[in-house]
Amino acid sequence: MPQGGSVVNTDPNCIFCKIVAGQIPAMKVYEDEAILAFLDIGPLAEGHLLIIPKEHAERLEEVNPDVLAQLARQLPRLARAVLSVTQAAGYNLLQNNGRVSGQEVPHVHFHIIPRAAGDGLGYRWLASKYPPGRGEELQKKLLEALG
Ligand code: 5GP
Ligand code: ZN
Repeated sequence: MPQGGSVVNTDPNCIFCKIVAGQIPAMKVYEDEAILAFLDIGPLAEGHLLIIPKEHAERLEEVNPDVLAQLARQLPRLARAVLSVTQAAGYNLLQNNGRVSGQEVPHVHFHIIPRAAGDGLGYRWLASKYPPGRGEELQKKLLEALG
């Protein structure tokens, strides 16, 4: 596994930055100059992986897009490895941003969570409906926000 150069942006109090720096151990499965993948210490299923940018950023929208692109490039390979090793029928790719979303470690990470029929995992998917006109209003605002 190539170790890559030194990481510019780190947070000395961040547990995942400490893993990147080798200050605390992790069961690493992939590493390059920009990203690191390792087993989650509290797996929701065997093979539950975390994939992180090496540079510290708390949330997705703060990550350098090139680093994110590098991370995305590795996702299919990592997912295929998890599927082949665990024989899982499928997986969830989960990425939480902010405490309200369930994010506990404030260093951006993607979960690959292997899934099996009847495993009891999952979301309460409380789907709603837009009242008339509200969807279009939001679309207009988003188009404006995106310039
Ligand atoms: P979040 O809720 O922030 O999306 O997920 C954080 C994840 O990080 C949890 O699944 C938790 O088990 C994992 N985690 C927290 N601390 C450590 C650690 O020190 N090592 C590893 N490998 N995983 C950790
Ligand atoms: Zn960090």
